[in-house]
Amino acid sequence: MSVITLDNYINGKLCPPTNDQYLDNVQPATGQVYSRLPQSNEQDVNNALQAAQKAFPQWSSLNPGERSHWLQKLADAIADNHEMLAQAESKDTGKPIQLTRTVDIQRAHDNLRFFAHAATQFSSESHATNPRTINYTLRQPLGPVACISPWNLPLYLLTWKIAPALAAGNTVVAKPSEVTPYTAYLLSQLCIDIGFPAGVLNIVHGTGQQAGAALTTHDDIKAISFTGGTETGIAIKQATLRQHKKISLELGGKNPFIVFADCDFKQAVETACRAAFSNQGQICLCGSRIYVEDSIYDDFVAAMIERMKQLNVGDPIDPKVDFGALVSANHLAKVQSYLDLAKAEGGEILTTNQDLELPIRCQEGYFLKPTLIIGLNNQCRSNQEEIFGPVATIQKFSSQSEVLQLANDSPYGLAASIWTNDLKRAHQMSSDIEAGIVWVNCWLLRDLRTPFGGMKASGMGREGGFEAMRFFTECKNVCINYR
Ligand code: NAD
Repeated sequence: MSVITLDNYINGKLCPPTNDQYLDNVQPATGQVYSRLPQSNEQDVNNALQAAQKAFPQWSSLNPGERSHWLQKLADAIADNHEMLAQAESKDTGKPIQLTRTVDIQRAHDNLRFFAHAATQFSSESHATNPRTINYTLRQPLGPVACISPWNLPLYLLTWKIAPALAAGNTVVAKPSEVTPYTAYLLSQLCIDIGFPAGVLNIVHGTGQQAGAALTTHDDIKAISFTGGTETGIAIKQATLRQHKKISLELGGKNPFIVFADCDFKQAVETACRAAFSNQGQICLCGSRIYVEDSIYDDFVAAMIERMKQLNVGDPIDPKVDFGALVSANHLAKVQSYLDLAKAEGGEILTTNQDLELPIRCQEGYFLKPTLIIGLNNQCRSNQEEIFGPVATIQKFSSQSEVLQLANDSPYGLAASIWTNDLKRAHQMSSDIEAGIVWVNCWLLRDLRTPFGGMKASGMGREGGFEAMRFFTECKNVCINYR
């Protein structure tokens, strides 16, 4: 198989890393190297920052309609190349092509289109304080900002960051995950194809420790929008503490999926399965702690197992497959170590990998079947730590107050899904649960106008809609007296 060489995208051009160093990128479904990406260093980051600085005065002084035009052009380019991008993302991540077609690439397009529209609707407040005094709020773009994204939804989360930043008039240096760089590289090619203004968006590839750290700590970076692991978020916050940058952190999760006996049983089983195992459990919003009311617990576990057996595990490029490979050998080893831990903690693993049949091409790939664990208490590490793989635990509860206490007994507070037909209980639980996003009788439904993000160790700065654009601005109040 030929190995593709990926480049950085700086000042409107594709460029190799200045040190000529590259990292191998492996296709998770086959375990084979299929591309190499720049191992960028401080010099590459400086080059990207210079380009972003140079482009800022012009980009920030465009009127919103002109910025909107460029974002819409990029959204259209994604739509026109939907199938090519869906295949690339499936290859890069190991996730089923049916998922990259219907979710990832579609949502990447939606992000750009949404903020193309938002750019023209963005406004700020004014207050008539008395008949001769007016206060108004000026919201001004910051300058070059950093957008750092993870591997699990590469193009979707990259666009979720760059779109509001660009719409608000900033220029961007983005660093995608070194584990899944391919779609970001293809996006830079699309920028070149459509003549996107040079230096407005720059994409630097490489590791977090080298390229990521050089970018986030750079004095010229005014804001950091980061999505990734909680420990990385803390490291970035600590490293930049004295630089007074704006920081938004979207971090890990260990989300409760709570099922009351009065729910729509079939729909709850179906969605619990989807919430636990979509993208092989590698979505920050996955429902990995399932709590079921005791009167329906046995039936629920049996129905879950039946539904899990129907999941078609296999080569992600096959459109009939709905469960693909984990992202890397390291990550598979980490997830497997949690299965050993769960057993040591007294858990019983209800599924097995032994009957996994894979096509020859995938024999060296990183596959693990969906796994359900019973018999663990809430305090054990398997229930407290983010595993970020196809592993869910299931526990029973006997009352609303008990399940609320169990759900909130977690360092994380990203999302929750609650299943009940009791309206009062749905409102009470939604209000009392410690999570930034609550779904009632659904999961993963998303409206881009709503706040998004977590509490506690899941992050800070809830973003969405105009709030996401406001994060990328400096806000100034002007008070005028004209007596
Ligand atoms: P990660 O923290 O290892 O890496 C994320 C990004 O940060 C990568 O681009 C990486 O290169 C970069 N990075 C690493 N160290 C850095 C440093 N010192 N300075 C600057 N950049 C650095 O996370 P990951 O393994 O890629 O992603 C999985 C994690 O992301 C999970 O914890 C998951 O829950 C979380 N996540 C959260 C959300 C959310 O919206 N809350 C969404 C998706 C994923």
